[in-house]
Parts: sequence; C-alpha cells; structure tokens
Amino acid sequence: MRQMTYSSKEQHYMQEALFEADQAGIIGEVPIGAVIVHHDQIIGRGHNLREHANDATLHAEIRAIEEACATLNSWRLEDCQLYVTIEPCLMCSGAIINSRIPTVYYGARDPKAGAVDSLYQTLTDDRLNHRVTVYEGLLAKESGERMVGFFKAARQRQKAAKKARQAAKKAAAEKSLDSPEKS
Ligand SMILES: [Zn+2]
Repeated sequence: MRQMTYSSKEQHYMQEALFEADQAGIIGEVPIGAVIVHHDQIIGRGHNLREHANDATLHAEIRAIEEACATLNSWRLEDCQLYVTIEPCLMCSGAIINSRIPTVYYGARDPKAGAVDSLYQTLTDDRLNHRVTVYEGLLAKESGERMVGFFKAARQRQKAAKKARQAAKKAAAEKSLDSPEKS
C-alpha cells in the first residue's frame, strides 16, 4: 500500500533505519537498515552484516527481530512496527510472518529479490494465517539512492582493480623483455 504522505513520526523511524543502513555502508556491507518500534520505542535495530560475519542470514531485519524478541522476551512481536529501508527478501518476509509483526514500512522496492511486492507477495498472501499491513515508499528515494551509490562504487572499485592488474602484468612483461639475464 502506498500512502501519499507519511507522518513525521513514521519518517523519523525510517530515518533511524537509514542511519542503520549507513552503518552497514560505512563498513562495506550492502546498505540496508531496519528498526522495530513498540509503543513508540525502538526495541530492535539492525543492519546488514553478511560479509563481516560470513553469515548468509544476517540481514538487517533478522538482526532487528532478534533484538526485539530479546527486549520483549517473547518471539511474538505483536503491536510492533518494522521499518526497513529496502523491500524484504523471502527469508526476512518469513521471519516477519513467524514473529507475527503486524505492520511493515519499507522504503524502496527490490526488483531482484523483493518478496513483498516485486517477486512474491508473501506478506499479504491470504493462504497464510498471519497477514501484514504493508506500507511502501516511505523515504524511498533516500533508501534507493544508498543502494545505487553503493553498487556504483563497488563497480568502480572492481574496474580500478582490473586496470591495476593489467598494468602490473604489462609492466612485468616489459621488464622480462628488457632484462639482460633473460636469454
Ligand atoms: Zn532479507
């Protein structure tokens, strides 16, 4: 569901999720962040840590859910809202359903892995017992821009590394041609 306007409170919590996304970006992780709010308090927060932990499950939402469950001392996150900068994937949508989160706000869609609107509509599938009210597009521009910037920088780094390898190879080849020891 796309709302035309979001309240300043909703925007504030998504800003907190964006702050988490930046924490991931700073250390070279894909910049996605999430917070979970319960009675107007953030009780869980997280950012992507897959690379540093070498753990495929450490997405922002999973970390935020783990922290929120620990805070409430319950696996049921009723009366909670999850704010996440990018559309949740299949794994995270599953965790949202299993933790019974009733409301999800996300920023930008993920056309390659999104399991809320893009590829699958997991959170609103009426074959499942638990259904989630989903709001999309909250600070979507800010959320999406971080991803675009991150992947652009990663491509540039790859390009620069390739160029450096080629230059080193060329220099080595020239050196061996010039070398008097080489017959
Ligand atoms: Zn995920």
